Amino acid sequence: MDEDGYSMEREQADFDQAELTRLGERAAALRRRGVCVHGWRQGFTEHMPEEYRGRILPGYALCLHCGKIDTVAALDAERDSLLG
Ligand SMILES: [Zn+2]
Repeated sequence: MDEDGYSMEREQADFDQAELTRLGERAAALRRRGVCVHGWRQGFTEHMPEEYRGRILPGYALCLHCGKIDTVAALDAERDSLLG
């Protein structure tokens, strides 16, 4: 790869890292205010722990921070609207 390609790739990586850091800080600030962005989830799998069986159905996930169970799409939409 030429030097320009490398520096553009590095610039993109720096941008991605800055964006991830920004989202992480925003999520932490929301959590301190008691608002959950559902960032730690247990989804449905064949091998999920016994305690989740019958509670989490295919297409749904349990947020391990706040305990909310909803469709993955609904949890994603709520997270996206909070993190903007
Ligand atoms: Zn949550």
